[in-house]
Amino acid sequence: MNQFKGVFLGEDRRPYRRAVTAQKCMRAGGKHNDLENVGYTRRHHTFFEMLGNFSFGDYFTADAIHFGWDFLTSRVGLAKDRFWITVFREDDEAYALWQKIGVSPSRLVRCGEKDNFWQMADTGPCGPCSEIHFDQGPSVPGDDTPNGEGDRVIEIWNLVFMQFDRSTDGRLTPLPKPSIDTGMGLERLAAVAQGRFSNYDSDLFTPILAAIGKRVGHRYGADATADRSMRVVADHLRAITFLMTDGVLPSNEGRGYVLRRILRRAARHGRLLGVNEPFLGELTATVVEQMGSAYPELQGAAGTVTEVTQGEEERFISTLDQGLPILTDLVRKTKSAGQSSLSGESVFKLYDTYGFPLDLIGEACREQGLQLDESGFQRAIEEQRERARKSAAFEVAAVSPVLTEVAGRVGPSKFIGYERLEADGVVQAILIGERQVAEAKEGEEVELLLDVTPFYPEGGGQVGDQGFLQGPEGRVDIRETAKPAPSVVVHKGVVRTGLVRQGHQLHASVNPTTRQDAAKNHTATHLLHAALREVLGPHVKQYGSLVAPNRLRFDFAHFKPLSSRDVEDVESLVNARVQRNDRVQTAEMGIQEAVAAGAMAFFGDKYGERVRVVTVDSFSKELCGGTHCRATGEIGLFRLVSETGVAAGVRRIEALTGTGAVMQVRRLEHDIRELGEVLKAGPSDVVGKVKKLVAQLKDKERELESLKLKLASGAKEEAQVRTIQGIKVHVQRADGIDMAGLRALGDRLRDRLQSGVIALGGAADGKVSLLVVVTKDLIAQVKAGDLIKSMATEVGGTGGGRPELAQAGGKNPEGLDSALAKVFEAVEQAVKKT
Ligand code: ATP
Ligand code: MG
Repeated sequence: MNQFKGVFLGEDRRPYRRAVTAQKCMRAGGKHNDLENVGYTRRHHTFFEMLGNFSFGDYFTADAIHFGWDFLTSRVGLAKDRFWITVFREDDEAYALWQKIGVSPSRLVRCGEKDNFWQMADTGPCGPCSEIHFDQGPSVPGDDTPNGEGDRVIEIWNLVFMQFDRSTDGRLTPLPKPSIDTGMGLERLAAVAQGRFSNYDSDLFTPILAAIGKRVGHRYGADATADRSMRVVADHLRAITFLMTDGVLPSNEGRGYVLRRILRRAARHGRLLGVNEPFLGELTATVVEQMGSAYPELQGAAGTVTEVTQGEEERFISTLDQGLPILTDLVRKTKSAGQSSLSGESVFKLYDTYGFPLDLIGEACREQGLQLDESGFQRAIEEQRERARKSAAFEVAAVSPVLTEVAGRVGPSKFIGYERLEADGVVQAILIGERQVAEAKEGEEVELLLDVTPFYPEGGGQVGDQGFLQGPEGRVDIRETAKPAPSVVVHKGVVRTGLVRQGHQLHASVNPTTRQDAAKNHTATHLLHAALREVLGPHVKQYGSLVAPNRLRFDFAHFKPLSSRDVEDVESLVNARVQRNDRVQTAEMGIQEAVAAGAMAFFGDKYGERVRVVTVDSFSKELCGGTHCRATGEIGLFRLVSETGVAAGVRRIEALTGTGAVMQVRRLEHDIRELGEVLKAGPSDVVGKVKKLVAQLKDKERELESLKLKLASGAKEEAQVRTIQGIKVHVQRADGIDMAGLRALGDRLRDRLQSGVIALGGAADGKVSLLVVVTKDLIAQVKAGDLIKSMATEVGGTGGGRPELAQAGGKNPEGLDSALAKVFEAVEQAVKKT
């Protein structure tokens, strides 16, 4: 009901007073989290469809109860005597209404706030509620009363009688009009309507379970443990498919993290079912097949969903393979340190960095007779949650309470800047810092509110306007314009000359150049968005954007870097649209109409009932409040200057338009000309010349390498080779060559030995280089990193590296021989330990 919050509060208006909805619903994170329930109960999902009916000051309790009862008993035809009804302890009205409709008092239960006082969040609309529960009979395990254990009596529908707004201090104020908000899970309704005791036995799930069964080689219903895993996989497949279709991609923060956890939990249950390779990706097709006609967007995204799911699964499997040795090591270290529990912090690291499932860690601990430092782990996870919450929350700039209070008092500012860049406005208020003042003098930094303004306040990614305000006694230069609350425009700047006073009429002039440059970039952002969807696919969704006069930045969902071909295609497509010089049209309309016309709205954004739609031919249509060109030709030239990744699954494009784009081309041209001069080649020969130079350089490097090797093999110290416990150990001093030379020598020796340990050391210019190579087959017994550490101390240095290759540097050449001499003994000890 998020979209109706403002309507309940009376802040938002709709052209209708009743509504019914079928909504996609996720409960896998945040206030409502049923993730851990899934698989264990038969009635909880992470993703489900919620049906609802709403009244905005229209019908109330009596009708809501009547509609609910009529729907379930007459339309769906459920037996009246199987219901249980709960009402809020103090809600005598609802109690009487249920009784009147025919519910026996023995089946009418009064409950406290926890169960029957509904609120959307800690603040906001709320009210008492009445829940409709259904008794599935004694053959289903569980309590025979509502809100008990088990799946026997299940809640189907929650009717909320919205009538209060809870403020931050917990106080309840009545809503302008009492309203109704109800929610009923489609899956639970389907199950009871079909006479099934479990959502998973309804026809919403049986095809998915059958497909899973076929893939993993289990039949649903044959084995309780496998069944549980199959339920988890079935539920999570739906959640994965819907989240990804809505543009969410796996990441370590916010919604992306919720998706990642769901995906990994499903993958792990796949392992429990005996599948050791990725299998979820292909199964998402079943969800699309099953639900694609009701949600056509699933079909458009299906390819991406399969691909991304499979990629994430592959990574997770290698994570498991990677994490296991680390876990083993952790267990060993904990035991040898005589501790009885794994530190919460290191468990968290395994869990978070390597994505290692906690239950696997717990299992390993149990096997080793160790405990898990739960509270330390919880502390670490809380910290992580806090970080994730912060980054997921929409950043809302803090508005000073003074400004809020003043703006509330003086009323809204009328923005007329779509049509005009100049206008007269009367000063409503002036603020200096946290203080409201009657006037401000030359040199003072002010925030100023006007009744009418052509200044565009920062919003929708577009930066605010700059310009100046000329009054009868002075002038204010405006550097920034912002909108701290709806319909409040704040001009921030400095009084350049004279003074301004409250009540003065000022002539406001927006700087036309910066405004036009911003408009070019904003229109180009829309063209870019449309071009990306055309070239890469409809899964491309805007995550955020920055539209400034001198540049534009666009972040969007996409799972891999763009190829240079993609980049070229996108740039060409935008420029083709620029050259067509299409008109950019803007229109105000109702949100329903806009969405029906195919306007792109952004996931997670909140829109009012009236929206502004910006259209470029049939190419682009977006909800947008920004300022735009009149026609695309004004953009002049579009240059895509960079494409990078900003987070998992999120790419960023930076681009230039107009003069900025022309300047960039000119700079490139200048660089090439200069390059030509350095290379003594004409601009068209530069590439050929550079290629030739690179080839020559490679030849020289090869030559140098072989010279170094010759030098090293000619070193006066002979190599010492011994076999320790069956392991060939080659130790050699090779002075006069640097680390790169040692590595080349190490590589050559590794090829020659096939299996063994190689330790090399050389001194040159008073510095020592050490290198240890261990062939792959031996790293379980000997680790290069361990050997190098004991050697490095002898030469006054430090070092480290991977099990197969480690290096160190030192300042004490006298210690080199003894460092090399330690190797044999160190290998012997390492082998003994294993
Ligand atoms: P329960 O107590 O069974 O967890 P709830 O009190 O969390 O349910 P509400 O928040 O009142 O449920 O949600 C309204 C309706 O949505 C419920 O009556 C139920 O039909 C459905 N519903 C709630 N949570 C889930 C879920 N995780 N999976 C499927 N359906 C759900
Ligand atoms: Mg409930």
